Amino acid sequence: MNEFDLRKFEDEAQEQWTHAFESNPSSLEKFYLTVAYPYPSGAMHVGHGRTYIVPDVVARFWRMRGKQVLYPMAFHVTGAPVIGISKRIANNDPKTIHLYRDLYKVPQNVLDEFTDPLTIVRHFASEYQRVMTACGMSIDWRRRFTTVDPTYSKFIEWQWKHLYDAGHVIKGAHPVRYCTVDDNPVGDHDLLEGDKAEVIRFTLVMFRFADAFIPTATLRPETVYGVTNLWANPNVTYVRALVDGKVWIISQEAAEKIALQDHTVEIQEEIAGKDLIDKTVSHPLCGTVPILPADFVDPDMASGLVMSVPAHAPFDYIALRDLQHAGKYTQLKPIPLIKVEGYGEIPAQEAVEKAGITHQMDSRMDTLTQEIYSAEFSRGKVFDRYGGKPVRVARDDVAALMIEKYDSKIMYEFDTRPVICRCGNKVKVKILHDQWFLKYSDPAWKKQVSDQILDMSLVPPEVRLEFDRTVDWLKDWACTRRVGLGTRFPWDTTQLIEPLSDSTIYMAYYTIAHKIREIDAKLLTPEVFDYIFLGKESPDLPEKKKLDGMRKEFLYWYPYDYRFSAKDLISNHLTFQLFHHVTIFPKDKLPQGMVVFGMGLLNGAKMSSSKGNVFLLEDAVNDFGADTVRMFLMGSAEPWQDFDWRNELVISTKKQIERFYNTVSEIKDAKGEPHDIDRWLISRLQSHIERTTTALTNFQTRQALQEAYFGIETDLKWYRRRLPENSDGSRELHTLGSVWVRLLAPFIPFTGEHLWKQLAGEGLVSFASWPVADKKLVNTRIELAEELLTRTVEDIESIMKLIQITPKSITISIAPAWKYEIFLLIARAQDKNTVIREIMKDETMRKRGKAATDAAKQCTTLIHRLPPYVIEPLTRESIDEMNIFEEAKGFLKKEFGVPVHVTSAESSEHSKSATALPFKPAIVIE
Ligand SMILES: [Zn+2]
Repeated sequence: MNEFDLRKFEDEAQEQWTHAFESNPSSLEKFYLTVAYPYPSGAMHVGHGRTYIVPDVVARFWRMRGKQVLYPMAFHVTGAPVIGISKRIANNDPKTIHLYRDLYKVPQNVLDEFTDPLTIVRHFASEYQRVMTACGMSIDWRRRFTTVDPTYSKFIEWQWKHLYDAGHVIKGAHPVRYCTVDDNPVGDHDLLEGDKAEVIRFTLVMFRFADAFIPTATLRPETVYGVTNLWANPNVTYVRALVDGKVWIISQEAAEKIALQDHTVEIQEEIAGKDLIDKTVSHPLCGTVPILPADFVDPDMASGLVMSVPAHAPFDYIALRDLQHAGKYTQLKPIPLIKVEGYGEIPAQEAVEKAGITHQMDSRMDTLTQEIYSAEFSRGKVFDRYGGKPVRVARDDVAALMIEKYDSKIMYEFDTRPVICRCGNKVKVKILHDQWFLKYSDPAWKKQVSDQILDMSLVPPEVRLEFDRTVDWLKDWACTRRVGLGTRFPWDTTQLIEPLSDSTIYMAYYTIAHKIREIDAKLLTPEVFDYIFLGKESPDLPEKKKLDGMRKEFLYWYPYDYRFSAKDLISNHLTFQLFHHVTIFPKDKLPQGMVVFGMGLLNGAKMSSSKGNVFLLEDAVNDFGADTVRMFLMGSAEPWQDFDWRNELVISTKKQIERFYNTVSEIKDAKGEPHDIDRWLISRLQSHIERTTTALTNFQTRQALQEAYFGIETDLKWYRRRLPENSDGSRELHTLGSVWVRLLAPFIPFTGEHLWKQLAGEGLVSFASWPVADKKLVNTRIELAEELLTRTVEDIESIMKLIQITPKSITISIAPAWKYEIFLLIARAQDKNTVIREIMKDETMRKRGKAATDAAKQCTTLIHRLPPYVIEPLTRESIDEMNIFEEAKGFLKKEFGVPVHVTSAESSEHSKSATALPFKPAIVIE
């Protein structure tokens, strides 16, 4: 027998696979799957491993099922991140150097070249390809491209011409996340932290302070009527700044932010926060109020000063109360202005007291605040003296009034912080003019996408809601950048198309990627792509024959069947690509399905390259073998669940593969004549085939492995126990080995190829035909008999453990026929509650009296306990328990080392015999 040596299997298979997965249009039905391509700016970790291995397992499965499968891969190198990395390496930034040299193991001579951003992506793109290949991914590498290839840029220009012609590309002013160091808008991919932060529109309430204004930002302008004071932080240094010619007192940070939002700002002098305390300010809508000290005021939040409405804001209420407990400002009383059902006169006070909150740091404060805010917004009304309108109306009215008459302005700010750029700088909100947008806010465009989603298969189904929500809230998207790599924006070539906007229909590009590079990029006019993708003829198309070849590829492969990606891309990429598809392609070329992944954990903590909490995929392959990595990643969770990488569990996966390898190697030469138990083994195998197939059709890799690995392994263990003495199995084991290797081949293809050759299978197992369950080989009666025997053996074992005597004999008593009658009546009954009453109407049963009612109750309990795969066939097949145990006497004697008697319960004198039930004989051990 050959030794189990994963490294050797890998080398052997790689040699045979070199061009094996290059896929061309054929007469077969196609299956085209794609996965979000990587941005190769660092090494792959095991989390990436799962992202690309799940589609590979699916690809291998459908290939074996006889489909023409295409699994392509490319590299996304658009954008600014890699430019930042190269700058930091050029500046010898210790953190970046550490990451690339020590964690990603980039050799020093290569690292020296990383001052050129393209070298970084080229280096890691080839690393990715090498590691993906090492993992056994069945990718058609001929179709590999990068998003800065000239031919790809021509494709993007064509795509954008269509978006523009459809009216989806617009120009305007817009608040966007902005990094002032990079001088560039910031996309989700450019963020170190704060990707959930949203830009919120605040109203600045302008309080008079001598010759100056003190602005405070609010989302609830109507509450200005209830202001009792302002809060300033005595430890912060504020500034007097000339804003659009008027003096404002704000924090230093606020001055910088305001300057990015269409205001001219000129700082005049600094003011210590403590110098503002106890001064007064005034506003026409609330009169004169004092400025009070508060450490909680954050200079980096909006203007850095806050207006206080203690009647309706729990935080303000508690802060004021704390000061008053110290004997200060006792003259200030909350001023209510909103009436809301469910609350008394002063909602904030009431809520805080009811909850028993004693200090500002109580973790329930945020929830409480949110509750009052939404109650007041949805059903509150401002008092009559303030206009008496519902809050939702008053809010806009008061804001408009203050902007018109009382110098109010708008300020944009994030709802949560921090928001940090990849370069380490704090991200701010900037109003961009002459910015280009994709008009995702367009209701008609949204509708087209919603309609398409209805027609799609989404896995798991619960992500549908998240897609709907994303389509709903998507706003216009700043789609160009000034810095980075990528395709120039056709209507303003000083700008580049940003990364999430040039990666939406590249799945169509894969279909032609290996052929289009034969044509000079200069010849690739929009008409060329119109012909390839839309079949639109135009005069003077170049290289017509080549274009026809590409059109054929596109028509064969498109639309894609499934797109795979992690769930954090639902809110951008996965939804964006639908918007672009519905604009450009006809209905029959629109996306068919998506599979959304969970996240990866390492020893229970979220994997993160920037925090160093990753395990590199290549290290994993070197340490454990590619098949081990694959089987662990597929078996530890379903694709949409989060998985947790733990080395100790990975080691046990390797042992499982070794067990499988040894077993198949052993059984391949079995030649004996089949016994009854062989029929059982082969019968069971049919349901393992069927369930593995169903699970993989539904992308349930974990479920599939449970069936294909553990299900068959458990059967084999029982089979060995049941073999007659001196038999080491029959030739049926060869059949099982062949099926087993094929069922596991998508998961552990390297071991699979090696074993397939040992079994003298034809060609590569990667292209062998997937096993098909044969109904004719299913023998329910034998399966039930063995099930009964297994359960009885388990019962005997647990009784022996319990009584702890050395047994002399075992007696098995079989339930009488009348109990079988009751059992079957209950098992077949639609209504399990009334069936007992029905049974007792029967004359003979009634005669049995209590014995019959007891038996009916016990049968009911038993039927609840037995799994459906036992009950269901039992209602159809009758089994002869007496015969089953008679035949198994020899086996049971061998198992337990004592004589075994089989009796009918009715003829037995032992009192325990009365407990015998169908499928659960009484067991007496003496
Ligand atoms: Zn930055």
